[in-house]
Amino acid sequence: MTGEVLTVRGATRRYGGRMAVEDADLTLTPGRITALLGPSGCGKSTLLRQIAGLEPVDAGSIHLGDRLLSEPGRQVAPQDRGIGLLFQDYALFPHLSVLDNVTFGLRHLPRERRRKRALAELDRVHLADRAAAWPHQLSGGEQQRVALARALAREPGVILLDEPFSGLDRHLRGEVRDHLLTVLRTQGAAVLVVTHDAEDALMMADDLALMDGGRILQTGTPEACYRAPVSAVAAELLGEIQVLEATVVDGVAETAFGPVQAHGVPEGLASVLVRSDQLTPAAEGVEARVTGVRFLGAEHQVSVARGAARARFRATGSPPTVGEVITVRLTVGREAVLAAKR
Ligand code: ADP
Repeated sequence: MTGEVLTVRGATRRYGGRMAVEDADLTLTPGRITALLGPSGCGKSTLLRQIAGLEPVDAGSIHLGDRLLSEPGRQVAPQDRGIGLLFQDYALFPHLSVLDNVTFGLRHLPRERRRKRALAELDRVHLADRAAAWPHQLSGGEQQRVALARALAREPGVILLDEPFSGLDRHLRGEVRDHLLTVLRTQGAAVLVVTHDAEDALMMADDLALMDGGRILQTGTPEACYRAPVSAVAAELLGEIQVLEATVVDGVAETAFGPVQAHGVPEGLASVLVRSDQLTPAAEGVEARVTGVRFLGAEHQVSVARGAARARFRATGSPPTVGEVITVRLTVGREAVLAAKR
């Protein structure tokens, strides 16, 4: 394992006239898992493939430590990068046993060492007893673990996973994800997980990179991206938000649902980005009329109005009734206030 930082600077990829990836910066750190989150078609796989060396960069560069991996017109071959790949369809060879699938990438080792290494990797993913099985005899989750063992067997310093849970049933995902996390954490590699699923990203990531329209919108810890989004589009990637109109005066953003601290935000029009847990019934606050209540299972979604302004929140316990006037309070901080673009 190299233990080196992978650095993407200004990576760009055009297909015809269209930008699939535009001026993307990304840093992958050994021992940390970075989730690249964005909607389908936003350029995630293209960027992952550029890092893997399967796709060129039209502009920008990719380095592993000091070593140049990609620049326009030049790129190190995928197998010479020290990067492990796990694709969404696992891409196991159907005509090779589980063991041979894992030894496949180890042809540089003598036969017996190869076998030992592969068995050790299979043991790590709890599949040593299925070494002689064929891929089609395994469940989706097991196939993924074989693909993981194969990717890890070469001890790559960087591991790239493209939508690793997309082929799995919902009820299997949690278990597979936890297992994958445990194995990846013991490896100490720099890991990039590409996903369109906010929950998967939040569950796995030490660092997040939010992508839309070919661009990286924001990078940071999951908490920072969630609580202090750089834009409504970035905020929306991590879950439902509501945008309240506000006017900033003297460091306070006044919204229809109460004031929000806005120290340092330029005076004038602004938006306040509110998550559904950031408007709550409270003893003190502003009065709002309940306009709707929807049953969501463990909680209710309550819609409220104040004049022409509308908002929603999630209520646990017994919900208010439609028509009732309740007191609500905004619990967002300064970081949720975005000045209007001038
Ligand atoms: P994501 O992984 O986020 O779903 P992709 O990186 O697969 O997005 O695709 C980004 C954009 O680039 C999409 O508009 C897609 O249609 C386009 N694209 C991807 N690969 C190719 C290709 N080989 N040729 C032409 N267009 C492509």
